[in-house]
Formats: sequence, C-alpha cells, structure tokens
Amino acid sequence: MKILIVEDERRVGQFIERALQEQSHATQLVSTCRDARDALAASACDAIILDLGLPDGDGLDLLQEWRRAGFNEPVLILSARDAVADRIRGLNLGADDYLPKPFSIEELLARIRSLVRRHAGTKQTVLTHGTVRLDLLARTATSGSKPVELTSRELALLELFLQNPGRVLTRTLIAEKVWEASYELETNLIDVYVRRLRQKFDHEGGGLAIKTVRGVGYQLT
Ligand code: CA
Repeated sequence: MKILIVEDERRVGQFIERALQEQSHATQLVSTCRDARDALAASACDAIILDLGLPDGDGLDLLQEWRRAGFNEPVLILSARDAVADRIRGLNLGADDYLPKPFSIEELLARIRSLVRRHAGTKQTVLTHGTVRLDLLARTATSGSKPVELTSRELALLELFLQNPGRVLTRTLIAEKVWEASYELETNLIDVYVRRLRQKFDHEGGGLAIKTVRGVGYQLT
C-alpha cells in the first residue's frame, strides 16, 4: 500500500514517513500543494495524509480538487486547526477523517489502518459508465445488453478507467496499476490496449469515450 504524506513541517513529515515504513507501507512525502498535485498525477496512491497549512496554499483546496476529479481513496486531514468548524469543513469537502495536531503516532497509524480497511470493504463490485457495465466479481463486461469479451489485462484497464471517470490518468499511473510496472513501458502497449478497449465497446452508439490527452495519458469522459 502506498501512502502520500502532504506535510510542510519536515520533521513531522519524516516522523510519519518512518512510522508508516516500519509498518511496511510505501510512502511519498511532499511539502507543497504543487508537489502534491504532481505526485498524485504521476502515480497512484491508496491513502493520503493531508496537512492544511501549506506554504503555497490550503490543503482543503487540494482535497476539493481531488474529490472533484474523482479521486476516491481515503484522505485523513492532519492539522493544527482543530476547531469544530474546521473539522466539519474538512469532512464536508470529502475528508474521511480528521486528526488534530499534536497527535499520537499510534493513533494516526490506527486511524489509517481503519480507513483503509473500511474503504476496501465498501469497494463497489459493479462499475458502470453510460452503457458500459463491469462486474468485478463475475469478471464480465457488457455494453448495453451485449457481453464484451475481455482479457484480464483489458479488464484491469477498464476497471481503472471506470473507477476514475473524468480524471486524467497518466501513462505512468496506468502502467503501475495495470501492468504493476513502475518503469516506463517500453512499447506503445498502453495505446494498443486503449485502442482495443475503444473498439470492443464501439457499437450501437455510446461506447467507451476514452479521450487521448496528448503527452499525458488518457481520460474517460
Ligand atoms: Ca503546515
């Protein structure tokens, strides 16, 4: 599991990072809104620990952006702003939990564990988008009423798109999630698979509208 830590107090960030790594989590520590945006665009993560007071902006704005863009993994706000109004605002904007500073590292770890567990339990097993339907348990896909035969890789790619509608998925992120490759895929494999998905769902209108975002990746619109 990979956790993104957005924290500008270096000491605090490194402390959290070490604690998470001891629990065998992969981590990435960033200290500005800008780096946080880049980090999430470049690679997938399973949870975010988010400070609010950041040198180049407010963590709440980041949270709002991410939720609007369809990012739905758990976000825990870790902030010195601990008034009830702040907490409510954070939760309303889509945070899953709110831990005031100063905090106990044990409590932070426990909360992250519980968030991730809860989130895994609520993962949808049927994903839909327009006329496209994907049943993750049966591992079957349909377009309208017609079944669509997919290989397991195509299925994984379709799942990634359906879980992130509207979000621009970078090639790196797709490679990581679908091919479990953290390196750049050497061939144009991703393009080939996207083209196949488009073709397989391209009948009777509707179809699967995957837009090419030049130089970046793809977006299900
Ligand atoms: Ca701060």
